[in-house]
Amino acid sequence: MSNSDTRTCAFDSNECNGKIYKVGDKVSIPETNIELISYGMFLCTFHYNKFILNENHRLDKLLQVCSHPKHEEYKSQSKNSNKKPKKFSLEKVPKRLISILQLDENAKICSLCRKKTDSDPDYTTLEKYNIPVSKNKNDNNILKIGNHTYPLRNNILYN
Ligand SMILES: [Zn+2]
Ligand SMILES: [Zn+2]
Repeated sequence: MSNSDTRTCAFDSNECNGKIYKVGDKVSIPETNIELISYGMFLCTFHYNKFILNENHRLDKLLQVCSHPKHEEYKSQSKNSNKKPKKFSLEKVPKRLISILQLDENAKICSLCRKKTDSDPDYTTLEKYNIPVSKNKNDNNILKIGNHTYPLRNNILYN
């Protein structure tokens, strides 16, 4: 079988558009599409962009920024909003919050948002909401930012 005869997009749909690319060994297939895309597959520009380039870009962004839908809102409510923005440490969105925040399981949220979510009635009143399981009663009064731990009182951050 000659390759030149099979140069149609593997998704062969009416969305197909543009040049046909072969998915080479050096292409990094996004982990979320690993079951869909395989090496040696032919993809049109549309599907190559959709399943590889755009998806990789989306995953990269997920790893670098807080994906919480209210991140900006929470940040602006923060007492420190006029100062230089603090770097909040990102962590994988807790499993119990994935569905209420409608996030991807690979998404990351910052410590500020994680904390705020548990005191935001928009979320805590949802049927799907589960209260956090805390190992230690004092956990609720502690905010961890990077390697530092700040005690909290009435939601005011003392530095
Ligand atoms: Zn296509
Ligand atoms: Zn955030």
